[in-house]
Amino acid sequence: MKTGIHPNLKLAKVICTGCGNEFETLSVKETITVSICSNCHPFFTGTKKLLDTEGRVQKFERRYNQQSGQQQNKKKEEQQAKIAAKLKKKA
Ligand SMILES: [Zn+2]
Repeated sequence: MKTGIHPNLKLAKVICTGCGNEFETLSVKETITVSICSNCHPFFTGTKKLLDTEGRVQKFERRYNQQSGQQQNKKKEEQQAKIAAKLKKKA
């Protein structure tokens, strides 16, 4: 190993703001805060419930629902316009 090029490793405390879980790991920082950890992430817990502290899930759902609603309205309007055009041709 070359001397003087390696980072100074310390025991770091990892704190999860989502569930309050704490554990230790090696890092150059002394404390690390994370919003989700293996103790509360749905992948590890097996539940679908996601601890959402910043409202990102709600934000996404709101935006997605709005967009899909607008797209559905556009499709309906297009279909109605097509039907009206067909009726005009027949008459
Ligand atoms: Zn956690």
